[in-house]
Amino acid sequence: MIRNFLIGIFIFSLNSMTFAQEEKYTMPELKYKFDALEPHIDAKTMEIHYSKHHKAYLDNLNKSGGNTILGATAAGLEDLMFAVDGKNASIRNNGGGHYNHSLFWDILSPTPQKMADGKLEVAIKNQFVSQDSLIKLMNAEGLKRFGSGWVWLVVTPFKTLTIISTPNQDNPIMDLDDVKRGIPVLGIDVWEHAYYLNYQNKRGEYLKNIWNVVDWAQVGKNYEAALQSPLLKKIEKSNWKSFKEFNQLYSQITLPAKAGDYKLIKEKSDELLTKAEMLEKSNIPGSFQNTDIKSVLKELTSVIKDLHKSASKKPKDAKIQANLLKVEEVYKKVLEIVSK
Ligand code: MN
Repeated sequence: MIRNFLIGIFIFSLNSMTFAQEEKYTMPELKYKFDALEPHIDAKTMEIHYSKHHKAYLDNLNKSGGNTILGATAAGLEDLMFAVDGKNASIRNNGGGHYNHSLFWDILSPTPQKMADGKLEVAIKNQFVSQDSLIKLMNAEGLKRFGSGWVWLVVTPFKTLTIISTPNQDNPIMDLDDVKRGIPVLGIDVWEHAYYLNYQNKRGEYLKNIWNVVDWAQVGKNYEAALQSPLLKKIEKSNWKSFKEFNQLYSQITLPAKAGDYKLIKEKSDELLTKAEMLEKSNIPGSFQNTDIKSVLKELTSVIKDLHKSASKKPKDAKIQANLLKVEEVYKKVLEIVSK
């Protein structure tokens, strides 16, 4: 008994070690055969789309070391997407390609539930009147997309639904200009490779027919998972621009100060004060609003004012250090509130 238990632990550690070293993303298993979605999506298109196009994104993502570059883990594909900000084209394209197609295969089925039910049905009726009008809007967005891209049904940080379209392999989780961020619960691939063999240039026909194989049971599951997802709060916090900007500058100038280098604080304490004032005046996102946040942000501005005074007129390192400690203490309170 104990021996088996110890062997178990040994094998478990061995597995986690291997996992930690490899950190490779893998192809999701298809829940159906390549020909199962015919006549709406033909077998040849499915086979090439899954085993060539998607596989190439996956291989290139693994080759580019995506999971290690952005500090995410192999299991955290969503975290990887969240970290994409347009500076790393390889992760953006190949990581996006892997994430987007994985979601796409999952919401398709040869035996789909044709209508949304439960919470998703209520949300669709509230916002779009009917599932039919939602589909019409998504098809219109898909037709408007010039060149290659995707059309998405997205849960926003306000927990509402919205329809957006993105070019290439971008998606709504990524931190990109002009993209309303949120968690996609349904995505339709409008690249030509998704339909050309069967529909040629008729994207509209493809869009009309694909709904025959969209499984609203799976979309409903994605919807409920998105509402509960910690990622939604992360996006909300990230959308809070003045917080993001303050946090960036704060880290930039306080890290060297902790190592005894006050040069940046002396140079940029006025900028930090401006950012703190902007943060205090900003619209606080719903999830972080509580009775303390306003007074804590006010306190933050006030201690940064003191820091600024000590750093700008006849600066003395000891005085700066003492004021910085006070700022740190107050900022810790802010972080406690926004990290809940
Ligand atoms: Mn595709």
